[in-house]
Amino acid sequence: MDAADNDLTPLQWSQIRSAWGGCAYCGAAASALQRDCVLPLSRGGRYTIENIVPACRSCNASKSNDEVTSWMRRKKLDERSFLLRHRAFLDSIAEVLEQAEAPGLPSRLTAAS
Ligand SMILES: [Zn+2]
Repeated sequence: MDAADNDLTPLQWSQIRSAWGGCAYCGAAASALQRDCVLPLSRGGRYTIENIVPACRSCNASKSNDEVTSWMRRKKLDERSFLLRHRAFLDSIAEVLEQAEAPGLPSRLTAAS
């Protein structure tokens, strides 16, 4: 397994859940939140902290392999607020990830910003 590029640690998953405080899409404070890929794996998304958000069972099942913004529009969910929160979350982890990056290695995150 390529742990560096395609893995989510239990610590990262708990960071993600506490950052969102519920379902990332509808805000439901479900007890059993599932890992959802913002960009579905079938569309080239990866199983990483940058691409995973917590989703309640209902959103996860409904979104499935859809593109996130068109799905949210169709469901009349607050797409703008989701994108802003996701951006803020990525900003908050970018610093941590940069510090974890060993010196001399190219940062994987620079292309995303
Ligand atoms: Zn939901």
